[in-house]
Amino acid sequence: MGIMEKMRLDGKKIFVTGGARGIGKSIALGVAEAGADVAIVDLDIEEAKKTAQQLAAETGRKFIAVQADVTQPDQVEQMIATILEQFDRIDAAFCNAGICINAPAEEMTFEQWKKVIDINLTGVFLTAQAAGKVMIRQGGGSIITTASMSGHIVNYPQPQCAYNASKAGVILLTKSLAVEWALKGVRVNSISPGYIGTELISNSPFLVPLIKQWEEMTPVRRLGRPDELQAIAVYLAGDASKFTTGSDFVIDGAFTCV
Ligand code: NAD
Repeated sequence: MGIMEKMRLDGKKIFVTGGARGIGKSIALGVAEAGADVAIVDLDIEEAKKTAQQLAAETGRKFIAVQADVTQPDQVEQMIATILEQFDRIDAAFCNAGICINAPAEEMTFEQWKKVIDINLTGVFLTAQAAGKVMIRQGGGSIITTASMSGHIVNYPQPQCAYNASKAGVILLTKSLAVEWALKGVRVNSISPGYIGTELISNSPFLVPLIKQWEEMTPVRRLGRPDELQAIAVYLAGDASKFTTGSDFVIDGAFTCV
């Protein structure tokens, strides 16, 4: 089989958490273009439904919208049951939902800390665990987590210790699962984006004024676009990456190099 054939995802069943907007939406579009049917999982079901309709119209592929809060084990189990009713199997799972709260460490409240860790780290564990159980039963699958370059470096100048800690946790959680499930046919990798222009940034009055500074700090002198993560997502979801597990892919316009 040639490489372009291996990059196809025809017939694959995939879910993306946080798929209603931003990076998750772009990943959903990318894997659908490569042939997959996709479940858009999000807390925000109205936006998830709109996204599913829009992407179905654009690609002609099957999209379903499923509401779940990834921090709640019972909702994650229900989400998996709903996806299996529609799709029968799960070939790839993108554990992507995440938030950022910026606050100086000495002022961060317990609730702020807990919210970031619950969604970004515990939520990734719960969705990866639930997807992993299905994939072990099936005899294989691919799990892709969204970490961040903030799991590798301390961003400057904004204070975000909980976010950084959660993303470092995602990277080592991903490697741990890859090792545990290596002989069960389940591959687990993470994508660590640099600054990408999404609502996570544009909705934050704290982050928007920093965009110009980040552009100057990035060797390629711009933020990334969500569609620039599609190729790695398609690669990791399918057979082209069969020997790739336990890896973290930093895609950041060389931000972390300097
Ligand atoms: P976004 O805010 O545009 O989208 C995040 C989506 O996640 C939203 O649709 C939201 O409703 C959903 N979500 C939030 N909490 C949830 C929960 N508890 N359960 C289910 N869904 C939930 O954000 P984005 O920029 O697309 O970020 C996606 C991922 O990429 C996050 O993990 C983020 O940390 C990571 N990331 C983003 C950047 C960036 O610069 N934008 C950089 C590195 C990593």
